[in-house]
Amino acid sequence: MRTVDPDSLEAFAQTAIEGCGAPAGTAETVARSLVSADLVGHSSHGVVRLPYYATQIDDGSLDPTALPAVEETGLFHQIDGGGAFGQVTGRRAVELLTETAAEHGVGVVGIHDSGHLGRIGEWADQVAGEGYLFASWVNLHGGAQRIAPHGTADRRLGTNPITFAVPSFGALPFDMIYDGATSQVAHGKIIERDGSGERLPTDWTITETGDPVEHAADFEDQIGALLPLGGTETGHKGFGLATMTELFAAIIGGGPVASEEEQNWAGNGAAFVAIDPTVFSTREAVAERVSKLSQFIRSAEPIEADGEVLLPGEPEYRTARDRRKAGIPIEDAVIENLQSIADDLDIREFLPETIR
Ligand code: NAD
Repeated sequence: MRTVDPDSLEAFAQTAIEGCGAPAGTAETVARSLVSADLVGHSSHGVVRLPYYATQIDDGSLDPTALPAVEETGLFHQIDGGGAFGQVTGRRAVELLTETAAEHGVGVVGIHDSGHLGRIGEWADQVAGEGYLFASWVNLHGGAQRIAPHGTADRRLGTNPITFAVPSFGALPFDMIYDGATSQVAHGKIIERDGSGERLPTDWTITETGDPVEHAADFEDQIGALLPLGGTETGHKGFGLATMTELFAAIIGGGPVASEEEQNWAGNGAAFVAIDPTVFSTREAVAERVSKLSQFIRSAEPIEADGEVLLPGEPEYRTARDRRKAGIPIEDAVIENLQSIADDLDIREFLPETIR
């Protein structure tokens, strides 16, 4: 494990993405998104993805020069991701959401055929930063099936994240953001353990005998499935959320649901909604409610002596604050992959000094 300076990492990622054939603007957008995921502590959605993107560009499932196309249907918009980087599509969706919410009080954007939209909290962050409420339902475009229906071990749905954001209008140093997969953990947390030999926590996965999958490598070999949020006891709730998310994203986004299309690439379909809270309230009143609710939640007594009550979005806020100062820790396996990309593209001198 070594630590890198975020700006140097972003500059390297941009150079690498340009080296894979993306125009400068696209490379800048994608690099910023990846490093922002590393900054907030979701390294599963950070620069670790660069080799995957390079492979997708090689096999033609990702077009680094493509741009998303917007289809307008009255007040609403649908975006055809068209094989472009999902980060470019996500950014376009945020622009449409905030423009429409500013004009009409609400914006709804559906997305189909998007490249991987990455950490959905990034889009929530941007919409809340402009002062709007945000809600989204994201599916895996019918593919990447990994969650088992409650009481089974058969893979049927993607890890379908649900995300909400409420702007705090200064009541907190961050906006309140809930952003999580509808499985016990995001698949990225299994990928991160692949190759480590470490045993997976027992409440993440299930096999046909009812036992958990032992190692990440077994899961990657298609053994078992991810348990829905709630686990073996109350996974019916998580699976219900995953199912409804599958449908919301497909109906509003215009893409497929699981069973309709065989896909293994990490693309997304989505339904994004932005609402102007000042249609119903005032910024001051929202800030006061956020403040009072936060104080009330934080007044709960932690069971552990060193425990602490955190709010949704707070772990990411704190991690980003710390990593901006101390740098981003990068696992050795990821460093090796970045070095190998740098060699392939002949850009080793662009690697941040600490991992060159
Ligand atoms: P997670 O379990 O790390 O966090 C989920 C939510 O819980 C976050 O909003 C976080 O702020 C909050 N949280 C975490 N610890 C907390 C605590 N102690 N107290 C209070 N709140 C706390 O998230 P995850 O399910 O592992 O998902 C990770 C990322 O993966 C997300 O950004 C998600 O968007 C992304 N994802 C993307 C896709 C895709 O296809 N694009 C699919 C699945 C997940």
